[in-house]
Amino acid sequence: MTENVTEKIIILGGGPAGFTAGLYAARAELNPLILTGMAEGGQASQTHQIENYPGFPAGVNGFELMMAFKDQAERFGARSVSDVAQEVVIRENGLFEVLGYSDKYLCRSLVVATGASPRLLNVPGEREFTGRGVSYCGTCDGWFFRDKEIVVVGGGDSALEEALFLTRFASSIQIVHRRDTLRASKILQTRAKENPKISFIWNSVVEEIRGDDGQGVNAVVLRNILTGDCTVRNVSGVFIFIGHKPNTDFLRGVVDMDERGYIEIDRFMQTSVPGIFAAGEVADPIYRQVITSAGMGASAAMQAVRYLAGG
Ligand code: NAP
Repeated sequence: MTENVTEKIIILGGGPAGFTAGLYAARAELNPLILTGMAEGGQASQTHQIENYPGFPAGVNGFELMMAFKDQAERFGARSVSDVAQEVVIRENGLFEVLGYSDKYLCRSLVVATGASPRLLNVPGEREFTGRGVSYCGTCDGWFFRDKEIVVVGGGDSALEEALFLTRFASSIQIVHRRDTLRASKILQTRAKENPKISFIWNSVVEEIRGDDGQGVNAVVLRNILTGDCTVRNVSGVFIFIGHKPNTDFLRGVVDMDERGYIEIDRFMQTSVPGIFAAGEVADPIYRQVITSAGMGASAAMQAVRYLAGG
C-alpha cells in the first residue's frame, strides 16, 4: 500500500452494482477505485442473453452489457483493478483499510458490491468433478456438452433459463427438482415445458455424482424424496442452479449481517458502520436483478457522496 494515498471511495465488486456505483461516484468527481474481483462483470456477465434489462427490446448479451457498464464508469474517471478484498479493517482514525490479494488500500468510504456465488449441493462427487462434468454456468460450459445427456438441478429462474440455453448443445436435459412445483416465472415455465429436449424429474434430489478420473461425470444417483427410491441415470453433465450465497465472508465481524450472510442495510444503503455502504446481491436476498442491483449501486454512491461531504 502507498500509505499516503487515501482514496475518497473504494468500490468492492465489478458487477452491475459495483460499476454503477463507480459511474455515479466518478461523475461526482470522487475518482473512485473499483476492485472488480477476478471475474469482471460478476454473474451477469455469465448470462448469455438478458431479456429484462430495460432499453434492450431484443435482449442483450450479459458480458457485453457488463463491459458497457465498465466503459461508461471509466469514461468518467473510475479506475478498475482486478483484485479481491480479503479483509476490511476499520482504523482508529475512521479510515477503512482493504486488504486485497495484490495490494492494501485505504479509503474514507466504501461501497460493498461483491455479489453472490452459486450454492453447492454438497453431495459426494460434486467437488471432485467440478469442471469435469459438474458446472454452475451454462454459458461458460454448455459448449462441452454437445449431443450429450445432462441434468439440471433446481426449480427457479436460473435453472430454467440455463436449461433453455443448454438445449442449444445437449441432446436431452432432465430438470431435477425437489418438489413438483416450480419456483420459476411463468414465462420460463411455459418455454421449458414446451421444449422437446427438456423433461422433468419431480420430487427428487441428487444423492451422488459419479464418474471416472479420465472422462469425468458419467452418472447421477437420484433419490425420490416421496418414495425413498434411488435410481442411477447415465449422464455426462450436471448443471447446478440452487440459489446463491452472498460473498461477504471477508466482512464478518465488521458490518451487521443476517444469519445467511446478507449485509443488513437501511434504505439509504448504509450498513451498521457509517461510511460503509452495500449494494446489489450482497444485501438483497429478494430481487437480485441486474436492474435492481444497478439501482442500489447508484443509491449507494449518492449516499457516499453525502457522507464524504459530511451531510
Ligand atoms: P432461487 O429462485 O432461490 O431458486 C433456487 C431453486 O433451487 C429452487 O427451486 C429451490 O427449490 C432449489 N434448491 C435450493 N436448495 C436446493 C438443494 N439443496 N437441493 C435441491 N434443490 C434446491 O434461485 P435462482 O433460480 O438462482 O434465482 C435467484 C434470483 O434471481 C431470483 O429472484 C430469480 O427470480 C432471479 N433470476 C431472474 C432471472 C430472470 O428474470 N430471467 C434469471 C435468473 C435468476 P425450492 O423451489 O423447493 O425452494
